[in-house]
Amino acid sequence: MDKQLQFDLSYLQMAGIWAKNSYSKRLQVGALLVKDRMIISDGYNGTPSGFENVCEDENGVTKPYVLHAEANAITKVAKSNNSSEGATLYITASPCMECAKLIIQSGIRRVVYRDAYRLDDGIKLLQRAGITVEQLDSEKIKELEAERQASESK
Ligand SMILES: [Zn+2]
Repeated sequence: MDKQLQFDLSYLQMAGIWAKNSYSKRLQVGALLVKDRMIISDGYNGTPSGFENVCEDENGVTKPYVLHAEANAITKVAKSNNSSEGATLYITASPCMECAKLIIQSGIRRVVYRDAYRLDDGIKLLQRAGITVEQLDSEKIKELEAERQASESK
């Protein structure tokens, strides 16, 4: 398997594990920011620091101040000494329009996602900004995983 594809697969799987940290009952999303083959940030959808770890109100509606996973990963870099310039974002669900704006402005050059969100306007905006966008869906991940295991057992 192509080395880059192997890394993409691993990082996306790690983003999937990271998503499990989310308290959201509706949809758990995980994001990793990778630069020069180093994870420089991570995020999952959730409320801002210091707020209750509950994403939905009593009617099951997502609270308006919940941050998406990619927004949390990007803002975490803003608080650090690192920079997201030229980084790759791995995310379990395709970014929405609001997050796509943040991705563009933070200098991220490549986005790899797993599940397609029902709206693709975020993806379209990223492409318009010249950002490389790639999808590795669950089927493809399974295929690659089987391929990897087969080559390891040889
Ligand atoms: Zn979003």
